[in-house]
Amino acid sequence: MANQEDLLKKIIAHAKEYGFVYPSSEIYDGLSAVYDYGPNGTELKNNIRSYWWKAMVQMHENIVGIDSAIFMHPSIWKASGHVDAFNDPLIDNKDSKKRYRADVLVEDHMAKIEAKIDKEVEKALKRFGDSFDEQQFLETNPRVLANKGKLDDIKSRLYPAMDNDDMPAIKKLIEDLEIACPISGSRNWTEVRQFNLMFSTSMGSTSEGATQIFLRPETAQGIFVNYLNVQKTSRMKIPFGIAQTGKAFRNEIVARQFIFRMREFEQMEMQFFVRPGEEMKWYEYWKEQRMNWHTSTGIPAEKFRFHDHDKLAHYANAAADIEFEFPMGFKELEGIHSRTDFDLGAHEKFSGKKLRYHDAEINESYVPYVIETSIGLDRMFLAIMSYAFTEEKLEDGSERIVMKIPPVLAPYKVAVFPLTKKDGLPEKATEIMDGLKQDYMCFYEEKDTIGKRYRRHDAIGTPYCVTVDHQTLEDNTVTIRERDSMQQERVSIDKIGSIVAGRLRGK
Ligand code: ATP
Repeated sequence: MANQEDLLKKIIAHAKEYGFVYPSSEIYDGLSAVYDYGPNGTELKNNIRSYWWKAMVQMHENIVGIDSAIFMHPSIWKASGHVDAFNDPLIDNKDSKKRYRADVLVEDHMAKIEAKIDKEVEKALKRFGDSFDEQQFLETNPRVLANKGKLDDIKSRLYPAMDNDDMPAIKKLIEDLEIACPISGSRNWTEVRQFNLMFSTSMGSTSEGATQIFLRPETAQGIFVNYLNVQKTSRMKIPFGIAQTGKAFRNEIVARQFIFRMREFEQMEMQFFVRPGEEMKWYEYWKEQRMNWHTSTGIPAEKFRFHDHDKLAHYANAAADIEFEFPMGFKELEGIHSRTDFDLGAHEKFSGKKLRYHDAEINESYVPYVIETSIGLDRMFLAIMSYAFTEEKLEDGSERIVMKIPPVLAPYKVAVFPLTKKDGLPEKATEIMDGLKQDYMCFYEEKDTIGKRYRRHDAIGTPYCVTVDHQTLEDNTVTIRERDSMQQERVSIDKIGSIVAGRLRGK
């Protein structure tokens, strides 16, 4: 575990040193859980966003995009349930003065019990080898059964307490489980209190006339309230989807772990409108599609897993997360939710406007059901950084840090280096760069030795470095070096474009 924590620290330091992510307002000692993206981070973020957009909008004729405002009518958040129910239970440890989400303390405790079960399975697998029947073991082993019983017991207390906003019951559960603060080790807790995660501000010039409005905590509502506008103006027929990327804001109680949990972040969401009764088919479809998107970058499938929700949000009839193996372990990266007609139905009620779709094929009008895919862009960024960060010992004994960012997402695709600053090499290198930069982000660099320049581009994940030397002037060939294998090849200048293009196509 210590190693993994070290890894996150290294990634944070690397992100800052190489212009990916800086703490916000750093010269004023930062602002908690808010971050700024530097030049390389901005490129990477833009590339992730457009890779998503391409997969969702460009590749699906029945999905279109919108860009709705962050400020919305306050009644929207009443209708969506966010005013009343977008709360987290918080608890403070009186000794360490640290604040926690009470439900997360209990969930972490459950994760420890689950880890015990996994350990038993692992041990048994070693003992029994090929003849091991995992299913049978899980159903009969007394230690496993005892732990499963504990888990069921906790769930049967936590979930109803959360549903009923029963804060004393959560406090009692924390006490009964003897959960201690990871920092102080003490069980000296405050009461549990509900805390609404929405930021609010006021709109209007006079204090009497001003209205309280909220910074949107999710982009989805901008899609719901526009769905008929979009359906009519784009002449969409069910099933169809609306995609959007944009900022969302949540006053998170515990915002640690770098850009995993921020107070200002960006979401990439898609709402897919379907006939009532067909939602499960589309829910399965989008689970599969989204998992395929993740592995299409070349990140191995073992890094991802599904986690089906036992406890469903107030609006959902099925929900799953795609989890990624972050340095802190497997954690939610994306949510796929079957949101029923909850949101549209609520907006009909609160706005008094009909939000029905007329389905000409079956000659019926109804409020569509919705499947949603929702991923945090910053969280995806952290997933890519965590996967990519690699420390390598090379054959000659030296070390390098290389960011194995999937080439399609890398900030720069090609770096062009003249071997020396004279003899017309910079001019030739600039000419090559000019030929490539219309199509790819390219970086020109002539300072330091070629070896140092390679290292700098390994550290930001540039898939190809092209070196121009004296031979280039004679026969129009260059050395092209691939980032991961470090293999170098002599190729003619007109081949560079197709070599790079070959690596950029997603699956
Ligand atoms: P969590 O349980 O981690 O708080 P959630 O279940 O509330 O997340 P959703 O409301 O489903 O999250 O949001 C969809 C996605 O938005 C998440 O999968 C995550 O990638 C991203 N996201 C949510 N909250 C944050 C945050 N505070 N910082 C960064 N990304 C976030």
